[in-house]
Amino acid sequence: MRIDIHCHAIGKGTDITKIDTEVYFNAEDNQHWFTRILYNVLEEDLTGMGRDSDRDGMISTDEYFKLLYRLLVSSEEIDCVVLLALDAVYKDDTVDVIKTDLWVSNKFLANKVRALNNLLQGESDLKERNKKFYLGASVNPNNPRAMQELEGVISNPDAVLIKWIPSAQHIDVQNVKDDFYRVLSAHNMPLLCHVGPEYSFPEGIRNKNKDDFRRLRKPLDLGVKVIAAHCASPVFPLIDPNVMADFHSLMEEYNTDDDVRLWADTSALSLSTRLPVISEIINTFPAKWLVHGTDFPIPIDGWPHLPLVTRNITPKEYLTILKTKNPFDRDVKIKRAHGFSDAILENAKKVLRLPSISIS
Ligand SMILES: [Zn+2]
Repeated sequence: MRIDIHCHAIGKGTDITKIDTEVYFNAEDNQHWFTRILYNVLEEDLTGMGRDSDRDGMISTDEYFKLLYRLLVSSEEIDCVVLLALDAVYKDDTVDVIKTDLWVSNKFLANKVRALNNLLQGESDLKERNKKFYLGASVNPNNPRAMQELEGVISNPDAVLIKWIPSAQHIDVQNVKDDFYRVLSAHNMPLLCHVGPEYSFPEGIRNKNKDDFRRLRKPLDLGVKVIAAHCASPVFPLIDPNVMADFHSLMEEYNTDDDVRLWADTSALSLSTRLPVISEIINTFPAKWLVHGTDFPIPIDGWPHLPLVTRNITPKEYLTILKTKNPFDRDVKIKRAHGFSDAILENAKKVLRLPSISIS
């Protein structure tokens, strides 16, 4: 089973009281110049995929989920996608509305995942019927109801991981109370945690120190399996510090041959700005410690991965990448051409809390 463990749920709701039934997205009260540009690029990218069915110039929440469904059904490389929720920012036991730019609640996303899976069940093609969406839940430990929320998530068999972006969600990973981590560990629920530079959220840019991978020691010491996003690699290699060797040392410390506690994902490694560090990533991290992720809708552009100048990509591979319209498939083909092992596509089952029911 080939799983993309890192795909964002996004949407366009602007009413923060409706988070049970809609995505809340409003960065206008908290914008940073970089995210202003990025959000415009994403919107253009998505409308370019022809998903703006009512042609109002923007992608609604509904249109976005229809796009995800189409992409998974038509994918030749991917069988399952983990959709990621994102909990709010909390301050003094209440939601910090200004600092919360994107809020995808577990309740909203659990319902969406169920509905999408029901649709898949109705497909006539067996291969499509066997595909599945999973819930990547998000519980901010600063939420005064965090433990109840966590229990609710754990009782949902579709929930396969907990997702945090510590900078964007104001989470101090090393100061979260032990109980929270003990519950994750007891239920084999892995933590997918952003580490390294974060440019997708204004708060991410402002709170870089919260995304330091060294903070992961606490959950690891309490028995939680952790997936560090993007291999802790720089987004802009000329600006961001390169800490990959140190991160690799931490992986060596926590992993043995038959017990991998600290994983890294390959999400957003197709991003053109990361081209200069791709070889180093492949040479540093063994495939047995990596899980596949796209970071969709972060752009997956094929054209910058030029043959010959880019590691060992051949003109034939380059043409195949350019011809591949489905971004999930394009991402797999880009990584394959760079030399990432296909074994990475199969590793998710070793770390996700997958339901034991077999897919028929
Ligand atoms: Zn991401």
